Amino acid sequence: MTATVIDGKAFAADVRAKVAEHVTRLKEVHGITPGLAVVLVGEDPASQVYVRSKGKMTVEVGMNSYEHKLDADTSEEVLLALIAQLNADPAVHGILVQLPLPAHLDSDLVINSIDPAKDVDGFHISNVGLLGTGQKSMVPCTPLGCLMMLRAHHGSLSGLNAVVVGRSNIVGKPMAQLLLGDSCTVTIAHSRTKDLPAVVQQADIVVAAVGRAQMIPGEWIKPGATVIDVGINRIDKPEGGTRLVGDADYDSCAAVAGAITPVPGGVGPMTIACLLANTVTACSRANGLKEPE
Ligand code: NDP
Repeated sequence: MTATVIDGKAFAADVRAKVAEHVTRLKEVHGITPGLAVVLVGEDPASQVYVRSKGKMTVEVGMNSYEHKLDADTSEEVLLALIAQLNADPAVHGILVQLPLPAHLDSDLVINSIDPAKDVDGFHISNVGLLGTGQKSMVPCTPLGCLMMLRAHHGSLSGLNAVVVGRSNIVGKPMAQLLLGDSCTVTIAHSRTKDLPAVVQQADIVVAAVGRAQMIPGEWIKPGATVIDVGINRIDKPEGGTRLVGDADYDSCAAVAGAITPVPGGVGPMTIACLLANTVTACSRANGLKEPE
């Protein structure tokens, strides 16, 4: 069997086009321009790349982008004061603090200081609680993107066995909540899981969010299963230079799976598209207007 390749780039372009349409309507009918503020503390190279591309795509869909770059040694007091200012700013509908933060800053405290209604990353404890209890919330972008691709590929997910490998607050746990919300039978695996291959072999849907290059081989995959690969790992190429790979070993998994997301070009582009979608949702809610579908 050769797996269907789930084209995250194409999905993301579609999501961004719908966001752009909604932004146009908000501007033309209601005179409102959604605004996304991104806060970057320090100079982590990967974070700088993410923030740049988030800013560029925010502008491309017609929204306002506000970038706040702070020095690596910024105090918690200064960062919290900036967040308070953004919370109070009516032109800002979404606030994202790029993680990871430098070690001297308390990430939980910082994230929980964001107004939950503007928490477009969905990491505030209120949004986590709302998601966990099946209430309307801001949903973390990466798992939301994965869910959208899964729904589009499968239609209904009801009754499917889903194994999420990884239990981070950013990906694994919210992914499991979303799959449960769509009536999957969900298993969360992690570094202490016994006999991981046997656990993964039960899955109709495998979501790999581990951060270990190519650790899931095709032998672990049930024939016909769907593999959603969240991992982004940079490895050396034999001929020199580097390339990006996922947490699944793409070639061996694609030979067995029914469908698979590539790395790059799978989950990554959907994450930013969902961030833009969440910002439009936040803006619509803040103004008492109909939310995008
Ligand atoms: P974390 O490091 O926070 O979590 C990794 C999880 O994997 C942990 O729960 C850990 O278990 C588990 N794990 C580690 N080793 C093993 C193992 N040998 N067997 C089973 N489980 C294991 O990572 P994130 O969730 O933040 O990110 C995961 C990956 O996704 C990374 O590659 C990251 O770059 C990528 N990512 C991609 C995004 C995108 O847009 N495409 C967005 C966010 C992340 P334990 O809890 O027991 O330690």
